[in-house]
Amino acid sequence: MKTQLLEDEVLSAMSLSRQYGIFNANLMMLLSDEDKEFIENIQNICLEKEEEIGGTPGHNKLDVYELFPWAGSHGLINRSVEYPHRDDLEIGLKPEILRQWTLDIFNPQLSFAFGASVLAINPIAHHNEGKEPLLNDLKGLLDGKKIGCIGITEPLQGSDAVNMKVKAEKVSDGIVINGEKCYTTNSPKADLCVVYAVYNPEDPRSTMIQGVSHKDWNAGFKAERIGIPSVSKIHIGKTIFEDAHIPTDYITGDNGAGYDILFEGLVPERIGIAAQCVGNMWGAFTLASIYSTVREQFGEKILRHQAVGMSVIAKYHARLNVATMALLKLAETYDAKKEELADIPPTMNPLVATASHMKEYCSFLNHELCYELMHAMGGTGVTDQTKMPLYQGLSEISEVVGGTRNVQLLIGSRTINTMVKMA
Ligand SMILES: Cc1cc2nc3c(=O)[nH]c(=O)nc-3n(C[C@H](O)[C@H](O)[C@H](O)COP(=O)(O)OP(=O)(O)OC[C@H]3O[C@@H](n4cnc5c(N)ncnc54)[C@H](O)[C@@H]3O)c2cc1C
Repeated sequence: MKTQLLEDEVLSAMSLSRQYGIFNANLMMLLSDEDKEFIENIQNICLEKEEEIGGTPGHNKLDVYELFPWAGSHGLINRSVEYPHRDDLEIGLKPEILRQWTLDIFNPQLSFAFGASVLAINPIAHHNEGKEPLLNDLKGLLDGKKIGCIGITEPLQGSDAVNMKVKAEKVSDGIVINGEKCYTTNSPKADLCVVYAVYNPEDPRSTMIQGVSHKDWNAGFKAERIGIPSVSKIHIGKTIFEDAHIPTDYITGDNGAGYDILFEGLVPERIGIAAQCVGNMWGAFTLASIYSTVREQFGEKILRHQAVGMSVIAKYHARLNVATMALLKLAETYDAKKEELADIPPTMNPLVATASHMKEYCSFLNHELCYELMHAMGGTGVTDQTKMPLYQGLSEISEVVGGTRNVQLLIGSRTINTMVKMA
């Protein structure tokens, strides 16, 4: 913020602690005492950091990648996979979602960068087969000492990602890959990339591989930043592999196993994006609701003007609460099933359609809600005086990432076909 436009009292009314207060009040009836304590602990860590950063002006200048080690030391990068080296953290889909919401309100772009590292964490956690180098990567990523990314999308293969062209070739001590990935979140800053490639582009399903490529010992792995103005804090790259080596110990899926892992990974990714949308919306909603009670026009708080208070703020509050409850229900059911059934798959394959439904619904709502609530704040909403542009910016990309709306609807329509056949 170069020029302060709002009065000090208005700015301090929109503090992070007030945002958390409103968020907590909304969740009061939905969470157990244990859950409340869990989010309050994370909120206290974020509030301390908020003070150190210096509020919104600090967030506007922030290099989000500098906060990875801070977050990792508090177990704030991920709570859905077991840590190989820590047993003091609550793990599960519900803790993961609550962690994410708290971080999204704090800084949605930071939280998105963590999310891309988590996309590298998930396959390494599930497919490391006890290999020491992969366990070291997993620990480094969870601790925020390493930054990860996932390379699926290519310049010519977006929605049709399966027909990828990055070429893999077997060598005596592993695999060598050649080709380009794009839109790889974090890749210009990343230490490692979990990357997919195929031995035979004519037969991707039975020849797809997945492996971990490291930048430090791999001169053939390079990344150049792409400009994506709506999320200016996040480094998203064109990622180039030129004879990039993946040693045998870093192969997580070979000879077609990469194809199964690709689909297995998309389920938690989509649930994660849906959760991120909900957290982002809480950020936007809490700011707009505070502002609407401190800003007056025509002698009335703007919340009291029905076109703002009812037609926008109350309307999107209702939709946001419904999306919140849906995600909490999903998380609680999943965690309970995992507890109850010893043999539930560690991955989330049975939730393919649910993940697409959640992602499609929450990302569209995210875009609509942020736009409407930003405008409910008038000119203030579009300035850098508050975190609203950070929430709005994130909402512009959430429909594209993790598969566009049409891809989610395609999965949904195929599910309907299967359901009808099976009934
Ligand atoms: C900010 C950002 C971060 C990203 N991060 C990552 C990352 O970390 N790793 C990674 O691998 N990828 C990442 N992506 C890539 C993202 O997953 C793709 O952009 C997305 O899958 C869409 O691919 P595309 O951009 O090539 O669009 P296209 O596939 O070219 O689609 C263009 C349009 O055509 C529509 N369309 C395509 N096929 C069909 C169909 N069969 N039926 C109906 N409509 C269709 C789409 O819905 C879309 O509207 C990121 C993208 C962005 C913008």
